[in-house]
Amino acid sequence: MIHAAELIRRKRDGERLSSEELSELVLAYARGDVPDYQMAAFCMAVYFRGLDGAETFALTDAMIRSGETIELGAALGRKVVDKHSTGGVGDKTSLAVGPIVAACGVPFGKMSGRGLGHTGGTLDKLESIPGFRVELTTDEFLQQVREVGLAIIGQSAKLVPADKLLYGLRDVTATVDNVSLIAASIMSKKIAAGADAIVLDVKVGDGAFMKTIEDARELARMMLELGQHAGREVVCVLTDMDQPLGYAVGNALEIGEDEGRARAAAAVQDGTALATYDRWIAAQGGDPSESALPTAPVIRQVLAPSKGFVRSIGATDIGLAALRLGAGRQTKADAIDHAVGIRCLRKRGDAVATDEALAEVHARDDASARRAEAEVLAAYELGDEAPPARPIVLETIA
Ligand code: URA
Repeated sequence: MIHAAELIRRKRDGERLSSEELSELVLAYARGDVPDYQMAAFCMAVYFRGLDGAETFALTDAMIRSGETIELGAALGRKVVDKHSTGGVGDKTSLAVGPIVAACGVPFGKMSGRGLGHTGGTLDKLESIPGFRVELTTDEFLQQVREVGLAIIGQSAKLVPADKLLYGLRDVTATVDNVSLIAASIMSKKIAAGADAIVLDVKVGDGAFMKTIEDARELARMMLELGQHAGREVVCVLTDMDQPLGYAVGNALEIGEDEGRARAAAAVQDGTALATYDRWIAAQGGDPSESALPTAPVIRQVLAPSKGFVRSIGATDIGLAALRLGAGRQTKADAIDHAVGIRCLRKRGDAVATDEALAEVHARDDASARRAEAEVLAAYELGDEAPPARPIVLETIA
């Protein structure tokens, strides 16, 4: 019989929990024997007290064991690759990378997540495509990676159910940005989904959960260790997340920005990546045409109050403005509005004239559009001089 309150108290008071205790707690939560309110309190205790290496390993291991695992490489008889971002604003990289990698002949099988805190999630973005199914059975997942070369799925009642539940809870209880909770969440998905080689895109900066390069390095090293312990090849790329990635922030807007289609077309000139994108979306039940995406009824421009250069765009504030428009959840029960979001028309370093549009707000109604307009304007910092250029890739750890 698990004494959840006692484990919460001990973690709150800074004690170490044994592997057995952590395992029991996580598995009981996944079975429904520990309620959300106790698990939320536990996550908050972890947020303040942290987990050491052995505890993080035990948490990850229990999350993997909460469901089934897939031996992708063995099932396909060849090496399968995966990538995962630690979370950013406007981060639609997987939509482009998946089709490009698959078009190059390397099978790509991935388990993604939903929006988390101020960041968007690949699953929510994909679900803005009418018909797209993020829950596949293991057989469907394997068959699709074998036949199309690419599948992106979500956690389910069978695959890392503990992460599915914890993820939804952390999203709305301010317990996302803890190194151990992030590492366990990401690596439990990566290890359970079975890819042999994993690229981890560790985001750093205002719009990331890791605000400093030192914190990003700590997260990278922890995930590297968890992956290598499970016998996977892992490389971590630390990348800049100080302004929204690309231009669009919001689910259908990000799919419509067409990173997948346009980037894939540009990357593999003969059109095979673009064809792979279309086959992948169709294989999971979605309509790959851009005209199928939902659109918001109200579009409001955010105008520059003066001329100058865009010095910075607060990525977290843009992410939160999109969340409040309905692109993310404020409680577990909230449904996502796939159509709403923000399109940043001007990015860091761009020159702007007075009254030129900096951004566009896509909203459900006038009141939310006006509120978001003020929030987006506040997120833009204008100045007389262009800011220094910043590299996207800050460093690589392998
Ligand atoms: N991505 C995940 O899958 N989990 C986290 O906790 C953060 C980013």
